[in-house]
Amino acid sequence: MTDEMLDMKLLVANRGEIARRVMRTARRLGMATVAVYAEPDATAPFVAEADEAVLIGPADLSQSYLSMERILAAATETAASAVHPGYGFLSENAEFAKAVIDAGLVWVGPHPGALESMGGKIEARRIAERAGVPIIPGFDSSQDPDDLAKAAADIGYPVLVKAAAGGGGKGIRIVNEPSAFAAGLAEARAEAERSFGNSDMIVERYITRPRHVEVQVVGDKHGSVIDLGTRECSVQRRYQKLFEEAPAPNLPPATRQGLRDRGRALAEAINYDSAGTVEFIVDDETGDFYFLEMNTRLQVEHPVTEFVTGLDLVELQLRSALGQPLPVAQDDVRFEGHAVEARINAEDPASGFTPQIGTVSHLVVPDGVRWDSAIEAGSTISPHYDSMVAKLIVGGADRTEALAGLRAALDGLVVGGLTTNTGFHRWLADQPPLTAGRITTRFLDETDIPAVGADQLDAAAGTAAATWLAHVEAGRSAGPWGRLGTFSLTPRTSTQTIALRHHTGEVIDVAIRDLAANGGGTGGKAVVDLDPGSHRTRRSAAIAVNVAGATHTFEPITRSERWAPDAAAAGASAGAIVAPFHAVVAEIRVGVGDPVAGGDVVIVIEAMKMLHSLSASGAGTVDEIRVAVGDQVEGNQTLVTFVVDDDET
Ligand code: ADP
Ligand code: ADP
Ligand code: MG
Repeated sequence: MTDEMLDMKLLVANRGEIARRVMRTARRLGMATVAVYAEPDATAPFVAEADEAVLIGPADLSQSYLSMERILAAATETAASAVHPGYGFLSENAEFAKAVIDAGLVWVGPHPGALESMGGKIEARRIAERAGVPIIPGFDSSQDPDDLAKAAADIGYPVLVKAAAGGGGKGIRIVNEPSAFAAGLAEARAEAERSFGNSDMIVERYITRPRHVEVQVVGDKHGSVIDLGTRECSVQRRYQKLFEEAPAPNLPPATRQGLRDRGRALAEAINYDSAGTVEFIVDDETGDFYFLEMNTRLQVEHPVTEFVTGLDLVELQLRSALGQPLPVAQDDVRFEGHAVEARINAEDPASGFTPQIGTVSHLVVPDGVRWDSAIEAGSTISPHYDSMVAKLIVGGADRTEALAGLRAALDGLVVGGLTTNTGFHRWLADQPPLTAGRITTRFLDETDIPAVGADQLDAAAGTAAATWLAHVEAGRSAGPWGRLGTFSLTPRTSTQTIALRHHTGEVIDVAIRDLAANGGGTGGKAVVDLDPGSHRTRRSAAIAVNVAGATHTFEPITRSERWAPDAAAAGASAGAIVAPFHAVVAEIRVGVGDPVAGGDVVIVIEAMKMLHSLSASGAGTVDEIRVAVGDQVEGNQTLVTFVVDDDET
């Protein structure tokens, strides 16, 4: 059977960590690999690791990862024999699956009919209902706003308004009372139209203590469907998962079995023949469960299931796609241990999970964990794509051991150069609802996520300064450290301070006397990278320190740099709105001549699949609007200018 694999050349129509993940299994099975990539990904690890790589277009998704034409042309050009779509992008697009099949290639996914029937939430609900899978009480038979409002009243508030074409948590709004319905519907419609080009809505009862539990299924082309148990994915922000585990904890045995049986029943009803996931909401108050949707593709969180079953889901997908029967029967599936996954995103949890961009300065991954990542030290995180850069997966004999392993791993993990959510995950791992395995999807909305405290930052800066100083002292004479002598530090002078620039731009002065007093570092683990050649050009030194799971990165700066005007501040001014990063203009809320007050939202931009509102810093009158809706803008580009009111200047 493996001979068949040896002749194959697999094109992965995706990017980032999932492209690497798929290629890893392909290589193990002896298959050749082809990457397709867009311009911003030219130096990405998944491109370098593929046997062949084809540049398919610019950053714009419609001309690259969403262009069926260009991907198929790349397949022809490289004589690829199969296409794996990963997740997101074209993975659930029936038209793409058909085009791949029509081109004579193997489609590594379910048959197009399955993609079609689960592609829209309305039809999926109908099919689920017919297959005996409970659905959330709801209304989906008219798009008339009055009908929808009436349905909401019948269902009873709170209700959830949800995009029928939805995915990735887009186009979802909770509405708590009748007076808010029209606005909630309009917002959800607008977001759905923008994200999916379709604004059809479903109104559902909002389950107030919801847990997200899902069932992994796998089928083949010979009529077999098995399930690989449950996953819990209740830790979510903006209806998107951040942390997952297998199996789902604290489910009564009958509920767990019911979920698995219903998951398989749905897969069987659509002759499912690949890896897929049936998502459910479990009402934590009643134990009742309801069908949410089926994801007809490999899921981001599949590694936790791989850990507890010992199966390689990509291998199962490839075998099914080639027409091989499933190598395991339901009774052969053995569950052992527990696994958790933390999605590492370039985002700042303390400020509403806003996406961050930057260059990875340091990367240290502890041993004994699975690290599925898109990045290496030196990788640039661009604003064009999703903010997820890696997944940290830790397994153990049981849940307690898996969580302990996760904490230890997060204490050793260093992802330097930009803000990520690793500190958030370290905090989460200690939260009682999580450790008890009793978390609902409301948890993050109901809980204040601690910001990085000044004490944490000081501790990190102290460690960084002490570490750096030790290196300067040790290497003053020769070697790579010699060049740092230009900073002429004299630690014996009690008044000496070291100025460090944090990766967020903030400058922190550390008094050297303090270091001597406490013998150096005050907290955390430091990782030093003083090699000037590799991936930084401006600086000769950078030190990354892990404090409470978060990486803080510092660059020692000279006295003249310390007192130079702040480069970041130079771009902003009271009289203008400046784009903080590369983005697309989504909405302009003002016209020329309009008065604005401080805090008024002037313009909304979209980057990394999120909307960001940019507000006026003070009162003024709109002078010039330099962009239009739909324009791509660069970081630091001036978007709108004002004539500032006199008393503001
Ligand atoms: P999972 O349940 O595996 O976490 P998600 O729904 O979060 O899946 O989506 C997986 C990835 O695909 C994410 O990066 C998400 O942003 C992206 N995605 C999901 N749906 C769509 C869609 N309709 N169009 C484009 N990208 C999508
Ligand atoms: P998407 O296609 O965007 O993934 P889903 O239908 O899977 O949309 O819903 C995403 C998330 O929204 C779920 O994981 C859950 O947290 C929440 N959700 C969806 N429907 C309901 C509901 N009726 N009640 C409570 N929460 C819901
Ligand atoms: Mg979903």
